[in-house]
Amino acid sequence: MLQVNGLVKEYKNYRAVSDLSFTIGNGEIVGLLGPNGAGKTTALRCIAGILRPTSGQILINGHDLLTDQANAKRGLAFVPEVPSLYELLTVYEHLRFIAMCFDSMPKFEAEHESILRKYHLWEKREDLVATLSKGMRQKLSVACALIHGATTFLFDEPMIGIDPAGAHELKLELMQAREGGASILVSTHLLETAEKLCDRVMIMARGKMLAMGTLDELREHYGMEGQSLENVFLSLTSEVSP
Ligand code: ATP
Repeated sequence: MLQVNGLVKEYKNYRAVSDLSFTIGNGEIVGLLGPNGAGKTTALRCIAGILRPTSGQILINGHDLLTDQANAKRGLAFVPEVPSLYELLTVYEHLRFIAMCFDSMPKFEAEHESILRKYHLWEKREDLVATLSKGMRQKLSVACALIHGATTFLFDEPMIGIDPAGAHELKLELMQAREGGASILVSTHLLETAEKLCDRVMIMARGKMLAMGTLDELREHYGMEGQSLENVFLSLTSEVSP
């Protein structure tokens, strides 16, 4: 369960995220949509504990990220848009290191081979991270998120740079995690993917939430019955986009 209450993030005088409040329940995938510069990455980085919010509260499984960081982060996995990895570890060492950090060695022993094979990294397991291609780095970052048994997942543009087989595998993984009760927030510009994969979407622009709900709820609320998510998105964001 992820709860965000009144999240604000300012960079000097610029308010990148403004009063964002929402809850993602167990077993739910929410798509985070918005034009470039809407504040999606800033919001995700605050929720991941990488950026300190200007104000607001973030609860991960009931643990306050600001006052109970260790317990909050234990249940959290974040896959950033550009993975930041330990370049001088091998792929195997990297995954093992992350599992050790999260006290997840039994899961590592049981699952590392299948996870690495799934993302076609098994044959690269002895190679240094520094030698991986962009897509392989993205896949390793996903593998690291999966290895530590998190229950709240944050993905920033996870499909970008990953090949179609990897993207397909990732979608299956997200659906499996949802079935297992995970709370998942995925930022994406791929509206067709969001329409198929997400239970609800949140549309942001200029740091503010414009709308949040199922596609049917948004269609009904904005009088756009039968329209695609793309049309709903374009209609909602056309007036506020830069
Ligand atoms: P995109 O879809 O292009 O990835 P986004 O929705 O993820 O965009 P953010 O990266 O969160 O948007 O940026 C939101 C706003 O905050 C933008 O106007 C951006 O220029 C600004 N911003 C982001 N990082 C910083 C920073 N470190 N310092 C100052 N302004 C920043």
